Amino acid sequence: MSDAKECLFCRIIAGGIPARIAWRNDELVAFHDVNPQAPVHILICPRKHIATLDDMGPDDESLIGDAIGAAARIAREMGHAEGGYRVVLNCGAGAGQSVFHIHVHLLAGRAFGWPPG
Ligand code: AMP
Repeated sequence: MSDAKECLFCRIIAGGIPARIAWRNDELVAFHDVNPQAPVHILICPRKHIATLDDMGPDDESLIGDAIGAAARIAREMGHAEGGYRVVLNCGAGAGQSVFHIHVHLLAGRAFGWPPG
Protein backbone atom coordinates (compact mmCIF):
# COMPACT_ATOMS: atom_id res chain seq x y z
CA MET A 1 0.00 0.00 0.00
CA SER A 2 1.17 3.54 -0.71
CA ASP A 3 3.09 5.60 1.78
CA ALA A 4 2.00 9.13 2.62
CA LYS A 5 4.96 10.82 0.88
CA GLU A 6 4.02 9.26 -2.46
CA CYS A 7 0.27 9.53 -2.00
CA LEU A 8 -1.70 11.44 -4.65
CA PHE A 9 -4.53 12.36 -2.27
CA CYS A 10 -2.10 13.51 0.45
CA ARG A 11 -0.60 15.83 -2.15
CA ILE A 12 -4.05 17.14 -3.16
CA ILE A 13 -4.96 17.66 0.51
CA ALA A 14 -1.69 19.56 1.08
CA GLY A 15 -2.42 21.76 -1.96
CA GLY A 16 0.54 20.48 -3.99
CA ILE A 17 -1.68 19.09 -6.77
CA PRO A 18 -4.70 21.10 -7.91
CA ALA A 19 -8.23 19.81 -7.41
CA ARG A 20 -11.72 21.33 -7.32
CA ILE A 21 -12.26 21.51 -3.59
CA ALA A 22 -15.95 21.15 -2.65
CA TRP A 23 -15.67 21.44 1.13
CA ARG A 24 -13.14 20.97 3.91
CA ASN A 25 -12.72 21.09 7.65
CA ASP A 26 -9.91 20.23 10.07
CA GLU A 27 -10.12 16.48 9.50
CA LEU A 28 -11.64 16.00 6.03
CA VAL A 29 -11.23 17.39 2.49
CA ALA A 30 -13.86 16.88 -0.24
CA PHE A 31 -12.96 17.42 -3.89
CA HIS A 32 -14.49 16.66 -7.28
CA ASP A 33 -13.40 13.43 -8.95
CA VAL A 34 -11.27 14.07 -12.06
CA ASN A 35 -13.11 11.28 -13.93
CA PRO A 36 -16.71 11.68 -12.76
CA GLN A 37 -19.02 8.67 -12.95
CA ALA A 38 -22.15 10.77 -12.33
CA PRO A 39 -23.13 14.46 -12.69
CA VAL A 40 -21.96 14.88 -9.09
CA HIS A 41 -18.91 12.80 -8.09
CA ILE A 42 -17.10 14.05 -5.01
CA LEU A 43 -14.45 12.27 -2.95
CA ILE A 44 -14.42 12.86 0.80
CA CYS A 45 -10.97 12.07 2.28
CA PRO A 46 -9.59 12.16 5.78
CA ARG A 47 -6.53 14.41 5.91
CA LYS A 48 -4.81 11.55 7.74
CA HIS A 49 -3.16 9.03 5.41
CA ILE A 50 -4.87 5.66 5.85
CA ALA A 51 -4.35 3.39 2.84
CA THR A 52 -7.53 1.28 2.99
CA LEU A 53 -10.48 0.49 5.23
CA ASP A 54 -8.52 -2.59 6.28
CA ASP A 55 -5.66 -0.40 7.57
CA MET A 56 -7.82 1.60 9.97
CA GLY A 57 -7.02 1.57 13.66
CA PRO A 58 -9.83 1.79 16.22
CA ASP A 59 -9.22 5.54 16.59
CA ASP A 60 -9.81 6.01 12.84
CA GLU A 61 -13.32 4.58 12.72
CA SER A 62 -15.02 7.84 13.66
CA LEU A 63 -13.30 9.51 10.68
CA ILE A 64 -15.26 7.31 8.30
CA GLY A 65 -18.51 8.10 10.10
CA ASP A 66 -17.65 11.78 9.80
CA ALA A 67 -16.82 11.36 6.08
CA ILE A 68 -20.20 9.69 5.43
CA GLY A 69 -21.93 12.43 7.41
CA ALA A 70 -20.12 15.03 5.30
CA ALA A 71 -21.24 13.22 2.11
CA ALA A 72 -24.85 13.40 3.30
CA ARG A 73 -24.59 17.10 4.10
CA ILE A 74 -22.96 17.91 0.75
CA ALA A 75 -25.63 15.90 -1.09
CA ARG A 76 -28.39 17.74 0.77
CA GLU A 77 -26.80 21.14 0.16
CA MET A 78 -26.52 20.31 -3.56
CA GLY A 79 -30.23 19.40 -3.66
CA HIS A 80 -29.85 15.62 -4.04
CA ALA A 81 -31.34 14.40 -0.76
CA GLU A 82 -34.79 13.84 -2.24
CA GLY A 83 -33.71 12.26 -5.52
CA GLY A 84 -31.25 9.94 -3.81
CA TYR A 85 -27.55 9.46 -4.14
CA ARG A 86 -24.94 6.77 -3.66
CA VAL A 87 -22.06 6.60 -1.19
CA VAL A 88 -19.30 4.10 -2.04
CA LEU A 89 -16.07 3.05 -0.36
CA ASN A 90 -13.88 0.60 -2.29
CA CYS A 91 -11.51 -1.46 -0.12
CA GLY A 92 -8.60 -3.06 -1.96
CA ALA A 93 -7.73 -3.51 -5.61
CA GLY A 94 -10.15 -6.43 -5.90
CA ALA A 95 -13.03 -4.07 -5.10
CA GLY A 96 -11.81 -1.42 -7.54
CA GLN A 97 -9.74 0.78 -5.21
CA SER A 98 -7.13 2.57 -7.31
CA VAL A 99 -5.92 5.33 -4.95
CA PHE A 100 -4.64 3.97 -1.65
CA HIS A 101 -5.74 6.81 0.60
CA ILE A 102 -9.11 6.03 2.09
CA HIS A 103 -11.98 8.06 0.55
CA VAL A 104 -15.75 8.01 0.36
CA HIS A 105 -17.29 8.54 -3.08
CA LEU A 106 -20.46 10.64 -3.25
CA LEU A 107 -22.30 10.06 -6.55
CA ALA A 108 -25.52 11.89 -7.42
CA GLY A 109 -27.56 13.30 -10.26
CA ARG A 110 -28.51 10.13 -12.11
CA ALA A 111 -30.25 6.79 -11.44
CA PHE A 112 -28.08 3.98 -10.03
CA GLY A 113 -28.44 0.27 -10.69
CA TRP A 114 -27.95 -2.66 -8.34
CA PRO A 115 -25.81 -4.76 -8.16
CA PRO A 116 -23.21 -2.03 -8.62
CA GLY A 117 -20.81 -4.09 -10.78
P1 AMP B 1 -10.99 4.37 -6.07
O1 AMP B 1 -10.94 3.65 -7.39
O2 AMP B 1 -12.16 3.99 -5.20
O3 AMP B 1 -9.67 4.27 -5.37
O4 AMP B 1 -11.25 5.89 -6.44
C1 AMP B 1 -10.22 6.75 -6.83
C2 AMP B 1 -10.86 7.88 -7.56
O5 AMP B 1 -9.90 8.93 -7.62
C3 AMP B 1 -11.28 7.56 -8.99
O6 AMP B 1 -12.67 7.77 -9.14
C4 AMP B 1 -10.44 8.54 -9.82
O7 AMP B 1 -11.14 9.05 -10.94
C5 AMP B 1 -10.13 9.63 -8.82
N1 AMP B 1 -8.93 10.40 -9.09
C6 AMP B 1 -7.71 9.95 -9.51
N2 AMP B 1 -6.85 10.97 -9.62
C7 AMP B 1 -7.51 12.09 -9.27
C8 AMP B 1 -7.16 13.48 -9.18
N3 AMP B 1 -5.92 13.93 -9.48
N4 AMP B 1 -8.11 14.37 -8.80
C9 AMP B 1 -9.35 13.94 -8.48
N5 AMP B 1 -9.75 12.65 -8.54
C10 AMP B 1 -8.85 11.73 -8.92
